[in-house]
Amino acid sequence: QLSQRLATVAAFVKTGARVADIGSDHAYLPANLALNQRISWGVAGEVVKGPFENARHEINKLGLNAVLEARLADGLAAILPADRIDTVTIAGMGGPLIRHILEAEPQRLNGVQRLVLEPNVGEATVRAWLAANQFQITAERILAEDGHTYEVLCADRVTHAVHYSEAELLFGPFLLKEKSPVFIAKWHRELQRSERAVDQMQRAKVVPTAQLAAANAKINLIKGVLA
Ligand code: SAM
Repeated sequence: QLSQRLATVAAFVKTGARVADIGSDHAYLPANLALNQRISWGVAGEVVKGPFENARHEINKLGLNAVLEARLADGLAAILPADRIDTVTIAGMGGPLIRHILEAEPQRLNGVQRLVLEPNVGEATVRAWLAANQFQITAERILAEDGHTYEVLCADRVTHAVHYSEAELLFGPFLLKEKSPVFIAKWHRELQRSERAVDQMQRAKVVPTAQLAAANAKINLIKGVLA
């Protein structure tokens, strides 16, 4: 049984996909997809030996060796051209790390049509990378589980330019339209956090004006959305 967070990621994987789950840890996500015959083949990529062994153990235990392979590799290096991977999932990491993984070896994404990403923080930087690399967000979900709020982004490769406004980058183009209770609660908390940060900056008196201006701009964006 997957967590609601990983089940939400799984739901965006198209039936029959060839999937690479990067930073897979126990390989729970691709193993679940394979068990439910949702994918035709998959890779569980892990850069750390312990989690890689966990993934291998899980795949063996479930008898999934024909459909799932654990690979010890840094980021997208887990993907080989012969794999014909069309979907990449990356969940449970910070946005800057997800972005770093995506941009470290972009040629490994040749042939990849869909990215399903769940950044724990720093979603805006992931959305900015998607737009700059011609991946259009086609769906988003926000959910609360075990005291945390998670955002799941589903993006498909397009041939036209993609542009998001500052507000869309920060809040998410779909989440912004939907304004669900979980979304509203998250941004109330973020507003309080940002206001406290600005307060501290003003007390410190040595904060660069650009940093202060950026924090104030974020506060204004949040207030605009919550109004
Ligand atoms: N994806 C799973 C989930 O969402 O439940 C596991 C998330 S776990 C918090 C993050 C995993 O990413 C860790 O097992 C870590 O070793 C792995 N990781 C971090 N950087 C990585 C990289 N550059 N390449 C592959 N795996 C990485």
